[in-house]
Amino acid sequence: MAKKSRVPQIFKSAVSYFFTKPATTMYPYVKPQLPDNFRGQPVFDIQLCVGCGLCGKECPSRAIEMVEVDGKNRPQFRLDKCIFCYQCAETCPKKAITNSTFYELATTDKSSLIMKPQPILQKIEAVTDP
Ligand code: SF4
Ligand code: SF4
Repeated sequence: MAKKSRVPQIFKSAVSYFFTKPATTMYPYVKPQLPDNFRGQPVFDIQLCVGCGLCGKECPSRAIEMVEVDGKNRPQFRLDKCIFCYQCAETCPKKAITNSTFYELATTDKSSLIMKPQPILQKIEAVTDP
């Protein structure tokens, strides 16, 4: 039996690629659409914190260390250890930790992933500064 030529099939496949939607996106030029329950970097509000330390005790990754700020205990977050479970937010009796959709944390400098306890406005300014 004569062998069937595969050229037409290859040609068909090659042409179909021009009409197929790409599997990848143009990130970072095009931002992805996040699901409603997306868990990004936890946000800490020092004004609401009473320094009880419960968030640090409950964190399954040991990503929270209590540090002293103006004579009071405050949580410092190690985002390189954080698994974004939000246990800390659920545990906090003062709702001082909340969720966010901020996810662009990739860095070559691990020290930049230490989220020091500071007023929330100061932190947001630092994130948005060019
Ligand atoms: S989100 Fe989870 S892992 Fe991250 S600091 Fe809070 S409790 Fe720890
Ligand atoms: S659980 Fe809440 S109030 Fe207590 S130390 Fe953590 S952030 Fe502050």
